[in-house]
Amino acid sequence: MIRILLLFVLIGAAVWLAVWFADNPGRVEIEALGYGIYTEQVGILVLAVVILIVIAAALYRFWRSLRRAPGRIVEHRGASRRQRGYQALTQGMVAVAAGDSREALRFARKADSLLNDPPLTMLLSAQAAQLDGDEDAARRYFEAMLSEPEMAFLGVRGLLMQAVRGDDKTEALRLASEAQRLRPNTPWVLKHLLELQVSAKQWEAADQTLRDAIRIGVVDAELGRHRRAALAVEASRHALAQGDRAVAAKRSRQAHDFDPGLIPATVAYAKSLTDVGKMRRATKTLEAAWQKSPHPDLANAYRRLGGENEAPLALVKRFQRLVDLREDHPESHLALAEASLAAQLWGEARRHLELAAGEGRTSRVLRLFADLEEQESGDLKAARQLLDEAAKAPPEQSWYCDSCGSVAPAWHACCEACGGFATLEWRLPPGVPVAVEPLPAAIADQSQEWAEEKERPA
Ligand SMILES: [Zn+2]
Repeated sequence: MIRILLLFVLIGAAVWLAVWFADNPGRVEIEALGYGIYTEQVGILVLAVVILIVIAAALYRFWRSLRRAPGRIVEHRGASRRQRGYQALTQGMVAVAAGDSREALRFARKADSLLNDPPLTMLLSAQAAQLDGDEDAARRYFEAMLSEPEMAFLGVRGLLMQAVRGDDKTEALRLASEAQRLRPNTPWVLKHLLELQVSAKQWEAADQTLRDAIRIGVVDAELGRHRRAALAVEASRHALAQGDRAVAAKRSRQAHDFDPGLIPATVAYAKSLTDVGKMRRATKTLEAAWQKSPHPDLANAYRRLGGENEAPLALVKRFQRLVDLREDHPESHLALAEASLAAQLWGEARRHLELAAGEGRTSRVLRLFADLEEQESGDLKAARQLLDEAAKAPPEQSWYCDSCGSVAPAWHACCEACGGFATLEWRLPPGVPVAVEPLPAAIADQSQEWAEEKERPA
């Protein structure tokens, strides 16, 4: 609008000027470098000057656009090249997702040649190489990524996955630690790092990782406490094996605090108390746990309270306390029956075995009955018959792995069969399909444990 008004004003001014010059004739003389221009028509001269200015302006614009042209052409060509590069990158990724290794490789090369951006194409090239089964080439790409700050994490991730697949746990652990250094709060990194630290038995480091995982909410706080208890039990056992009683005592107490229901934690804590002569507290701890859930491991720990040289009759007297605490539980009667057998109190042993068998003659009950037959009357035939029966008895509670279904002779934070962390539960075997394989081993382990138990002086 303003431009149109301006144009009218300009036209008006030009017309007025032309009319003015026509009405006021004059003379213009220009002399320069020996040439001269003389005119009486001033209006025409002004017009000529204006036309010249317009032509010069047009020429300048044309020259300017000519000068910019090459840059624009290059720019345009570059943009289309980039576009084709990204297209190849996208198609390559789709090929990777589709599992088409040939196409993936082809597009990876194309993207690489079109895009002058190695970090962007490295990942695709690595994935394409992996898809093609060329792990060495993939490794080279992943390693090249390490030197690009923004790609280093992806490089570490690729190498870590390679190490995990190749079952190279040492290398995997190193790479997981590196990944955690690069991005400390990445859930999958913490998960892998924790698993690898647990399987490397780096209990204290695993505990630190678990704490990080709980802090950022990857592991639920309640579950986290149970897991930390499991790690603390192992840390305590390790410290004890190293002869560091102070650390062992501290970690076992923490384990018990984290999860008072974890039997191995209670056992470890009671042991550390027993070791420093705090017998009353050890007794109280074990009795409290027994009241909640009687368990053979607790009975063993309770037996150790009396020391190596405790008289069998004294042990029977102490074990009566377990029956008093939980008279309803077969474990109480089994514990007292076993103590009575060692003290040669046959009648008492038989009575508690009958009570323990109230809910079914399990293999443990049958084995103790066999023991009784053999020791009391020397009836080997009856004893053998009972042992045969024991072998065929349905499985009973053991440390079963929730993950692989195998049975462990003793509790560990890490399943020795499948490496699962905190998967062992004291219970009846899981569903039949899982139990089919491990069952004979379970019974064998149980009897092995019994055999060892009996060899120990009461
Ligand atoms: Zn397992």
